[in-house]
Amino acid sequence: MPSTAMTDSTDLAISFADVAAAAGRIAGVAHRTPVLTSATADALTGGRLLFKCENFQRTGAFKIRGAYNAIAQFTDAQRAAGVVAYSSGNHAQAIALAARLLGVKATIVMPMDAPAAKLEATRGYGGEVVLYDRYAEPPDAAVARVLDQRGGTYIPPFDHPHVMAGQGTLAKELIEEAGPLDLLVVPTSGGGLLSGCAVAAKTLSPGCRVVGIEPEAGNDAQQSLRSGSIVRIEPPKTIADGAQSRNVGQLTFPVMQRLVDDIDTVSDAQLVDAIRFFASRMKMLVEPTGCLAAAAVLSGTLDVRGLRVGVVVTGGNVDLARFATLVQPVAPAA
Ligand SMILES: *Cc1c(COP(=O)(O)O)cnc(C)c1O
Repeated sequence: MPSTAMTDSTDLAISFADVAAAAGRIAGVAHRTPVLTSATADALTGGRLLFKCENFQRTGAFKIRGAYNAIAQFTDAQRAAGVVAYSSGNHAQAIALAARLLGVKATIVMPMDAPAAKLEATRGYGGEVVLYDRYAEPPDAAVARVLDQRGGTYIPPFDHPHVMAGQGTLAKELIEEAGPLDLLVVPTSGGGLLSGCAVAAKTLSPGCRVVGIEPEAGNDAQQSLRSGSIVRIEPPKTIADGAQSRNVGQLTFPVMQRLVDDIDTVSDAQLVDAIRFFASRMKMLVEPTGCLAAAAVLSGTLDVRGLRVGVVVTGGNVDLARFATLVQPVAPAA
């Protein structure tokens, strides 16, 4: 059973020692984000919910943890050549900021139809954006072209040991601050956050169950865990735009197989309910993907009665017009 699995196995991409080392590197750089509670949420679910709020993290999401941990370990030659990333979302901003803080040049490959606000945010953190036409070439071809022309080290959004270990610092902070947990619930796309957090949780709170939550429309991680091999799906249609990866990683999957107890899914309607709950009850702005874990708990998809539950809130990057559309009580006319 995953709950009793050891985390010191040498065949996994990361160990708890890697997470602890990452925590040392990001100290004073990434915020130790607050752990918030809500009497209303506890009354609604019958559990004791501890929300780890990365919507208050630098760049608005947890990804600065992994990005900084990765670039901080560059050799001098790698620092001189710069970092390259591909993302239309939170990883782009995290790589741009982490690179700037470490004095490294960042080149971010983004689709030319990415929202203007995301391009601006990435440039605002000091990243140089290279646009590509996603209808003309796949992202890996665009990245390969940039690496060929400019050199540099590519840092992927989840399938990299330094990224995974960095993301795991979130669960380490949560458990150190809030104490042992019965259950840790984690939004999941490629599984970088889930695998890192599972390593930290199973070490620091050995009885803790770890459950990942995906959008219903994109349950590839659930299918992969249940079938025992990585399942690849078409890009899912969901409001959770940070959880649209088509498959989990070669490095994240074995960690998930060993240490993650289950993967559950939530609908877009349940995500909207959670966005509303956060805004109206906890006075905070959370992006749709950031609500995956909370939606599973608040909707009753996961039964948390009598349990101490860590609920990871991953990010708050949603523009206000979209937020307003999502939370308005009646669906807008088409
Ligand atoms: C990247 C991201 C996720 C998913 O993280 P993975 O490591 O790919 O599983 C979840 N929520 C937000 C806000 C993200 O930016």
